Amino acid sequence: MAGEPQADCLFCKIVAGEVPATVVRDTETTLAFRDINPQAPTHVLVIPKAHYADAAALAAAAPQITADVLREAGEVAAQEKIAVAEGGPGTGYRVVFNTGTGAGQTVFHAHAHVLGGRGLNWPPG
Ligand code: 5GP
Repeated sequence: MAGEPQADCLFCKIVAGEVPATVVRDTETTLAFRDINPQAPTHVLVIPKAHYADAAALAAAAPQITADVLREAGEVAAQEKIAVAEGGPGTGYRVVFNTGTGAGQTVFHAHAHVLGGRGLNWPPG
């Protein structure tokens, strides 16, 4: 059921402490931890502690937790000192929700990628 822990979900296991992770922020509803395969100097995943398959399912079922995830993405960027509104390459950051296998989603527990610390191209690959 939406929101309930899933036995076979990697990120539910990280929330439960069954799989280790380098946690950078922890709130009642969210957890932020470093990506195991970083694509930028800062690459942090912000997840709802409750299980939703992707960002759309999260937003439909739990708008407040969706807001919590977005707020925490901003807090991570501030903590990592990449939240620079007007600067050159390597400043500023990107928040990405890959949704669906065709778009690169590999873990079906909603998560925001917070990426920064290097120049980021647009459009993304
Ligand atoms: P997706 O491809 O679903 O958008 O993002 C999943 C992310 O989870 C990937 O960037 C991948 O590197 C990361 N990831 C996969 N397994 C682990 C793990 O065990 N620990 C951590 N910290 N990140 C993981």
